Amino acid sequence: MKLNADLAQRITAAVDAQFDAQIEFTKALVRLPSLREREASAQDFMAEAFRERSLEIDRWKIDVEELKRHPGASPVASPYAEAFNVVGTYRADSNEGRSLILNGHIDVVPTGPEERWRTPPFQPSVREGRLYGRGAGDMKAGLAANLFAYDAVRAAGVRPKGRIHFQSVVEEECTGNGALACLLRGYTADAAIIPEPVDEHLLRANMGLLWFKASVAGDPAHASGAYSAGLNAIKRAWKIWQRLEALEAQWNADRGAHPHYADHPHPIRFNLGKIKGGEWVSSVPAECTIEVRAGLYPEWTIERGKAEIEAAIAEVAAEDAHLPAPAICYHGFHNGGYVLEPGSPAELALQAAHEAACGETLQALASTASTDARILGVFGKIPSLVYGPTCVGAHGIDEYVELESVRRITKTIALFIADWCGGDSSGAS
Ligand code: ZN
Repeated sequence: MKLNADLAQRITAAVDAQFDAQIEFTKALVRLPSLREREASAQDFMAEAFRERSLEIDRWKIDVEELKRHPGASPVASPYAEAFNVVGTYRADSNEGRSLILNGHIDVVPTGPEERWRTPPFQPSVREGRLYGRGAGDMKAGLAANLFAYDAVRAAGVRPKGRIHFQSVVEEECTGNGALACLLRGYTADAAIIPEPVDEHLLRANMGLLWFKASVAGDPAHASGAYSAGLNAIKRAWKIWQRLEALEAQWNADRGAHPHYADHPHPIRFNLGKIKGGEWVSSVPAECTIEVRAGLYPEWTIERGKAEIEAAIAEVAAEDAHLPAPAICYHGFHNGGYVLEPGSPAELALQAAHEAACGETLQALASTASTDARILGVFGKIPSLVYGPTCVGAHGIDEYVELESVRRITKTIALFIADWCGGDSSGAS
């Protein structure tokens, strides 16, 4: 890191000085339930925050037709009426510095049974140094950290010399189409940071991901004849799920061939996320639909994963060949994985900033989840650094983010901005 110690100290002190305001901002963001198809009010909030900082604002609705033509697009299975992206741009006086994208996703996943939360999911609550709420860690704390890191840099008297785009995107939790829409709109930079909650690590690799739906037919009959007539679609679907679990085990057994996951106990995760079947308690079910999320090794093509999944389903279906074959539909994530090749200038700069802010060496991890780094990294060719705070209970009950962790990663990002973009601190106070 080329920053002198005095400037680095001023920047981290500025993070401390505004940290209460950063927590309040994050809480305000958690209060806006930006579930799918309800993202717009939270995006307006972000746009307002950009406006207050005199950033250039670009707010647009994702163009589904344009998106569909891109090889990185995932199928769009629900309305995009509220699917707005917002980008705030800082333009440097000169373009002597390197440019940067600070990205985060505004969308959050459903809460589960609210009565099982200690405090309601969209009423943020701070207890014992933790901020609780749906999206607190995944990843509204990260969206806030991007902005407050920039504020700290400015408060320390630095005017970055490179362009910075603050991206608040939709659709990270189901497709990646929000980040892709930013690329299609022309946004690029010399590096990107995505403060997903990765426990103050650097993400070295993430999995590819598929969502699919298999609609399984049964042979309906009067329940009184169920042992001599009819075939239960729910039972058939369950058998297919069991076959898919066997496939998951087989893929996991292959992990030795995948360098980033060779030591991982269970890198491939299949999740039976939804099931719907039957229409009358006294009728043998005619239909059952299962919806599954499946991870793929980053070295694999999506086609390879799909072929093995479809073959496994077909194998079970063949036992009842007189019934219609299960219809398989891909209705969300349709993404390959991502690997951050070690040693890029951006990674070295993040390591140095992390060390200066946290006093520790930055460790890398391979994630079993997917991130938008793939979109920016693979299709945008932007070195994309996923680095963010410690969060517990993401997608579960009582999600929280550790506030001291948020403080540390904000300091790292602030130091990174000043170092990466370069800065004129002549106006320093
Ligand atoms: Zn996330």
